[in-house]
Amino acid sequence: MTATIIDGKAFAATVREKVAAHVARIKDAAGITPGLAVVLVGEDPASQVYVRSKGKQTVEAGMASFEHKLDADTDEATLLALIAQLNADPTVHGILVQLPLPAHLDSDLVINSIDPAKDVDGFHISNVGLLGTGQKAMVPCTPLGCLMLLRHQHGSLSGLNAVVIGRSNIVGKPMAMLLLGDSCTVTVAHSRTKDLPAVVRQADIVIAAVGRPEMVPGDWIKPGATVIDVGINRVEGEGGKTRLVGDVDFASAVEVAGAITPVPGGVGPMTIACLLANTVTACCRANGLEEPEGLTA
Ligand code: NAD
Repeated sequence: MTATIIDGKAFAATVREKVAAHVARIKDAAGITPGLAVVLVGEDPASQVYVRSKGKQTVEAGMASFEHKLDADTDEATLLALIAQLNADPTVHGILVQLPLPAHLDSDLVINSIDPAKDVDGFHISNVGLLGTGQKAMVPCTPLGCLMLLRHQHGSLSGLNAVVIGRSNIVGKPMAMLLLGDSCTVTVAHSRTKDLPAVVRQADIVIAAVGRPEMVPGDWIKPGATVIDVGINRVEGEGGKTRLVGDVDFASAVEVAGAITPVPGGVGPMTIACLLANTVTACCRANGLEEPEGLTA
């Protein structure tokens, strides 16, 4: 059996189209342009690429993009003052502080200083608590993207066994909360899990979010399961060229799974699409406007 390839790139394009259509409606009906502010501290090359890409796609969706680039040695007070200014700015509906921050800055303190209503990354403790208690939250973008792909693939997820490999605050834990919200039976596996292959073999849905190249082989996958590969790992390929691989060994897993996301072109493009979706959702909530359908949990 060869799995259906879940085309995250194409699905993300449909999410961005829905966002752009809703932005156009908001502009027409209320004269409001949703705005996203991205704060980058330092010159991490990967972060610079992400921030550029976020800004470009924000503008393409018809929204306003505000970029704030600060030096790597910026002190905490300066960063907190900028966030306070963005919190108070009515033209800014979403605020994202690009992680990781330089080591001298306290990421938790910085994230928790963002107005939770503008926290489009969904990392503020208020949003974590709202999501954990099944209330309306801003939902972290990568797990939200995975959920959208799963709902599209399965329709209802109710009663399915889901195994999430990885327990990070950014992916694993919020992913588990979202799957519980959709009535899956959820297991969260991690570096101390005993007999991981046996745990994964129980899963109708496998979410791999570890950061270890191709660690999940096809013989861990239950035949017909849906595999969502969040991992993005750079490995050396032929001729010394680097290539991207996921946390799942795609070549063997595609022979067993019912459906699988590739890397690249699976979960990756969904993350920024969901950031745009969260920004338009935040704008609607702030202004008492109708929220776009199907763009949140
Ligand atoms: P993280 O390092 O914060 O967490 C990794 C998790 O994996 C930890 O909870 C750890 O317990 C678990 N783990 C480590 N070794 C393990 C093992 N041998 N067996 C089982 N579990 C193990 O990473 P993260 O931020 O959650 O990211 C995970 C991966 O997802 C990375 O490759 C990252 O680049 C990628 N990622 C992709 C996107 C995207 O947009 N597609 C977004 C975020 C992260």
